[in-house]
Amino acid sequence: MRKVSVKKDHVLDYEIRLRIIETAKRLYLRGLITSLTGNISNRASDKRRFWITPSGKDKYDLKPYDMSLVDIDSGEKIAGDKPSSEYLMHLYIYRVRDDVESIVHAHSPYTLVLFDLYKRSQLIKIFEKFSEEYYETKTFLRKIDVIERTPPGTVELAEKVSEVFKNDLDVTLLVLKGHGVVSIGNDLTKALNRIEVLEDLSKIYIFRMLLIK
Ligand code: 13P
Ligand code: ZN
Repeated sequence: MRKVSVKKDHVLDYEIRLRIIETAKRLYLRGLITSLTGNISNRASDKRRFWITPSGKDKYDLKPYDMSLVDIDSGEKIAGDKPSSEYLMHLYIYRVRDDVESIVHAHSPYTLVLFDLYKRSQLIKIFEKFSEEYYETKTFLRKIDVIERTPPGTVELAEKVSEVFKNDLDVTLLVLKGHGVVSIGNDLTKALNRIEVLEDLSKIYIFRMLLIK
């Protein structure tokens, strides 16, 4: 009897864990994270727990058994390796947003450059203009917001980030100045795609600025 449950636990949410691993590889191959940056999570099938990448492990070489399982109510780690140092950020978002299935955090370089050059109000205007010019903006990004520099891996960061997603249900993508981006979605592909689209648009914007002058 016991053996059966051990085996069951071993294969628990295997597909979800594989998708997290695949997402990490895609982020790495697109230069949106380095070997040791970024983190990814997805709700477990029971919806009350989430799987998250472990802390400090090579994002191109993750294995299903590396994944950490965290309980959303208690915040306790249930299985796997030590969870990402940003697990509180993921946990707080899942607590305030029942509709969120997947969260991706990357360190997108062009996005970071662009968001460092302007104030929040200017950035919002830039992306409003982009919505008219580039169809991806409206289709995939919906609303973007930005928060000022806050130390990584802290409760302060987790609180600030979850507050934004709690208070504005239209925001799907949040830029953390000087650090990275956090994207939410009802699946990993959508959360990943938003980060990719924002990075492409940031690149287009920067090259346009450089070439038009
Ligand atoms: P982890 O490896 O602990 O997830 O840290 C990466 C990161 O991007 C921290 O902000
Ligand atoms: Zn980070």
